[in-house]
Amino acid sequence: MSLIQCETCAGNGEVVTDWNVYLHPPEGSPADAGVKDCSECDGNGWFDDGGYAPTSSR
Ligand SMILES: [Zn+2]
Repeated sequence: MSLIQCETCAGNGEVVTDWNVYLHPPEGSPADAGVKDCSECDGNGWFDDGGYAPTSSR
């Protein structure tokens, strides 16, 4: 099993939807203004290359 970086969001888990808002967020806008969760990787930034999901021990 290995992790593959999502090409759509370059591993960020987010994709910029509006660069103007992203770079210059209007006053009072949320922290994630101008971006949205990547729909390709579900906002993870990485794909699980088959097998089983890694269990992060917390
Ligand atoms: Zn992605």
